[in-house]
Amino acid sequence: MTVVEPAKAIQGTRVGRICDRCNRGLCTGDASCFYATWYADTGWYLRRLYCGDCGESTIESGTADADEVVGEAVFWNHQLAGVRITDRSRPEDGE
Ligand SMILES: [Zn+2]
Repeated sequence: MTVVEPAKAIQGTRVGRICDRCNRGLCTGDASCFYATWYADTGWYLRRLYCGDCGESTIESGTADADEVVGEAVFWNHQLAGVRITDRSRPEDGE
């Protein structure tokens, strides 16, 4: 399965509204951040959702054999809009 461009795949993803770190509820129009991993069978899977204050813009320690991204988005009606990828750790990076 060819890896889909992550920003395109994550755009419009349905999400909960609670920050995974501080438990703050997000409202429509709020800045949010996310962490996603590529799985060959399901595609990009959103594993973490953060509020604008808790999100990280870089991947500090990537998983060796996984393709991972972090990014920013606008929380909009329980979906992610305006998705922008800020860092990516590809398997071949060996980080
Ligand atoms: Zn938070």
